[in-house]
Amino acid sequence: MIDAPSSRYGTLFLVSTPIGNLEDMSFRAIRILREVDYIAAEDTRHTGRLLQHFDIQARMESYHDHNKEGKTPRLLEYLKTGKNIAVVTDAGTPGISDPAFYLVRAAISQDITISPIPGPTAAIAALVASGLPTDRFVFEGFLPPKKGRQTRLKTLVDEPRSIIIYESPRKLMRTLTDLHTHLGDRPAVIAREITKKFEECIRGTLGQLAAQSENTTIKGECVIIIQGQGKKKRYE
Ligand code: SAM
Repeated sequence: MIDAPSSRYGTLFLVSTPIGNLEDMSFRAIRILREVDYIAAEDTRHTGRLLQHFDIQARMESYHDHNKEGKTPRLLEYLKTGKNIAVVTDAGTPGISDPAFYLVRAAISQDITISPIPGPTAAIAALVASGLPTDRFVFEGFLPPKKGRQTRLKTLVDEPRSIIIYESPRKLMRTLTDLHTHLGDRPAVIAREITKKFEECIRGTLGQLAAQSENTTIKGECVIIIQGQGKKKRYE
């Protein structure tokens, strides 16, 4: 039975899914996905393979960045008629650098209960494996590709906490070069392919990592972790 609070509305479950290793799927995630009325998925083909693996029969609705405005009213209607919906993304925790945030905000504005089903997220997995300070950190997600990029980079210069940045392999070299230019040569880590066969943490300084990404193609999904300003004495 779904563990939803009593309400005449349904519940919006945010179900975390693996970021590369199916063994990271939680028992609760499987149960909730089996029990909900609909699953809103970023990529229905991708999620279809996950559901098949765990033998989950479910009705899926596609829900991604390009259709979120159009789809949200319908999903809210389902919830208001008492249906339970789970949101999943291609990988990790819904709402972290993906469109689930938009649906969560809309659901809250209609007094719909939000229930998180915690699980993997690349940012935290990368941070804890990096060896950089974990006592305080800031999640920057993806840097803006064009407009606002310089301004964002400038705001990071004096950031004292460890900085977590998402990047696609295609743009990794440019981003490392920009970070090196703005933040200087300080300790940093590229955590790539976390939980997958070729998982690795490449440790060095921003200058070394930028040079390495110029000389060899660093493949796969990546998280960049950078040491905050002023941590040198304490952690080196
Ligand atoms: N919601 C996801 C989460 O909880 O981490 C993040 C979605 S975001 C669109 C995708 C980005 O997450 C990738 O570009 C990469 O920076 C990071 N990422 C996802 N899976 C990863 C993995 N297995 N290893 C390293 N980074 C990963």
